[in-house]
Amino acid sequence: RLYNQVQDLKGNIRVYCRVRPFLPGQANRLSTVDRLEDGNITVNTLSKYGKEARKSFTFNKVFGPSATQEEVFSDTRPLIRSVLDGYNVCIFAYGQTGSGKTYTMTGPKELTEESMGVNFRALSDLFFLSEQRKNTILYEVSVQMIEIYNEQVRDLLVTDGQNKRVDIRNSSQNGINVPDANLVPVSSSSDVLNLMNLGNCNRATGATALNDRSSRSHSCLTVHVLGKVLASGTILRGCMHLVDLAGSERVDKSEVTGDRLKEAQHINKSLSALGDVISALAQKNSHVPYRNSKLTQLLQDSLGGQAKTLMFVHISPEPDAIGESISTLKFAERVS
Ligand code: ADP
Ligand code: MG
Repeated sequence: RLYNQVQDLKGNIRVYCRVRPFLPGQANRLSTVDRLEDGNITVNTLSKYGKEARKSFTFNKVFGPSATQEEVFSDTRPLIRSVLDGYNVCIFAYGQTGSGKTYTMTGPKELTEESMGVNFRALSDLFFLSEQRKNTILYEVSVQMIEIYNEQVRDLLVTDGQNKRVDIRNSSQNGINVPDANLVPVSSSSDVLNLMNLGNCNRATGATALNDRSSRSHSCLTVHVLGKVLASGTILRGCMHLVDLAGSERVDKSEVTGDRLKEAQHINKSLSALGDVISALAQKNSHVPYRNSKLTQLLQDSLGGQAKTLMFVHISPEPDAIGESISTLKFAERVS
């Protein structure tokens, strides 16, 4: 059974779609999601002319509004084992602002054990599995957390609240890395929780009440795993990037100017660069355009080759989100 699960993940790029529930106070409204079954999602575009038009999309997995964090994570679990085996893994959350990206990766504002997102569960699993292997392989785990905002990279694991800019480097010895971002050894889930809190706090400091910067930057929690096989001395190196992407909504250029326009252009550029890279990989193109954004440069070693990619695409159920939902589904279709 385990063998089948691993086999099932042999395809290196997987796309899971998640539809968030209506928020409290929104109950009983008509959802744009008409049907969810197996890997299929059908949306009703409810055109403004009152005509119903249905469109269907197929993914590796579709999670409906009642799917729990536990259920969503259980289909992610085999990737964690891959990291310990020395593979590189990227897990992305894509979707418009408000569609549930942060909920999937981190969880809701008031975190409980049940509502913990993929990041925490992935790290807990990693510790659990490495403990199981400790008689044969000795693991060291360390994390970095950075943010990409307007094509600039910033360390989120700073304790003095400083705005610390860092650079992405490429060395023949270490491959792609961010040497100046704090690299913190972790050995338990509570270490990880503390660091995630620090990182999320630093991510939010750029925000004013009106101006939620976290929706306009990409945040990336990178987990470095080093394993030493005791019998042979062989070193296993795996790395996992957990990425909460900037909101994918298109901004009406006629309505924003200055900083907002610049932000929108940067987001647009980096999300399309990501789409171009993954779709080139999915189509097995010989040229993969990694150089077009900081995000794809950072992830170059972890996208393609032996690396495994999982993209969660998020859909809001509200009828007025249908335009963005369709464009999210089209993006997802393109990369799968
Ligand atoms: P995003 O990060 O894409 O902007 P959030 O994760 O912040 O969106 O989600 C928006 C709101 O919806 C938050 O209040 C969040 O707690 C809630 N939410 C999102 N997904 C779910 C879900 N699957 N179940 C319950 N509440 C959710
Ligand atoms: Mg968010």
